[in-house]
Amino acid sequence: MATNRTEKTMDMDHDACLVEVKVSALKGLGVFAKANIPCGSRVLAEPALLEVKGENAKDIVRAFESLPLSQQNLYLDLHGYACEPFKRAAEREMEQDWQQIPELHRRVLAIYAANAFGNVFLLGSRINHSCIPNIHFANNSVLEKETFHAVRDIVAGEELTITYIGGTNRTRSQRQAALDKWGFQCTCPACDNTLQGRKREQKRDELLALDQQLAMDMYIGGGTKKSYTKGLQIAQKMAAIQKSEGLLNRDLGLSYHDAARYCLKLRRAKMAILWAERELEVDRYCLGEDHPDYRKGFEIIGKLKAAVENSEPLDESVTEWYGFHGPSADSCIMM
Ligand SMILES: [Zn+2]
Repeated sequence: MATNRTEKTMDMDHDACLVEVKVSALKGLGVFAKANIPCGSRVLAEPALLEVKGENAKDIVRAFESLPLSQQNLYLDLHGYACEPFKRAAEREMEQDWQQIPELHRRVLAIYAANAFGNVFLLGSRINHSCIPNIHFANNSVLEKETFHAVRDIVAGEELTITYIGGTNRTRSQRQAALDKWGFQCTCPACDNTLQGRKREQKRDELLALDQQLAMDMYIGGGTKKSYTKGLQIAQKMAAIQKSEGLLNRDLGLSYHDAARYCLKLRRAKMAILWAERELEVDRYCLGEDHPDYRKGFEIIGKLKAAVENSEPLDESVTEWYGFHGPSADSCIMM
């Protein structure tokens, strides 16, 4: 790590007293809390170590070769693993058999495959996966950095975890199928084959079913008071399960977002504001108040409150935020 930290691309913000890299029981190295970290803390904000325009294997190698030597060395310290489908895609893109690709380039590609979420990060890429993550990561376009926030209180010594596979409303087999490309079997508490693990899995099954029901109803059953009432009940139920299962990232915010939208459809604006405020709270601790999505959510709530106070129609930016379609929704007066 004794490298030239004055280079702009390595302008990483993190409290060295807060986290450290150590051997993990999950796999290889991991990132651990050195002190108690309260919910909402930004434990890390870092620019990409390797930023790739496009996902072609040639783009990855080109991006690596354009790095200063010090950063190439940092990159090469990361763990590499390329699954067979990744290798086959790389062969097509490099127009060479995997074994014919120069060894250094194979390593560069394998490190990208094992560590990239969009780009590759020096410290963020060392955070291991859990299906019940305690950290939420997001790109902050204002800071031009990836941020990592604690979604709950984390105690000193605890390993930091993120989800590698996006949405948390999935069953164990779906999660494992998505994780196979990283070449490991998930052993997090949600994937644990114990009574407790199986109970958690039942809740995931329930979440998946509710998620699918909501998507189906939005697609075919929309437009009636009955469907909005049902949608609101499903969104509330999903939020309750997510909270009880410790799934506190933006999927929870999405459930609150859905609940707010159905309340607006039902003309229950004051209730919609309460759900919108819950969503904003999730955005606050997952993203931080300097994230554009948090600022947008804050602005939307202000407009919602103004519409209620003045018995005015909803502003177009509010109806867009909630994905309303059709003139009847746009013109509804908020009381
Ligand atoms: Zn798991």
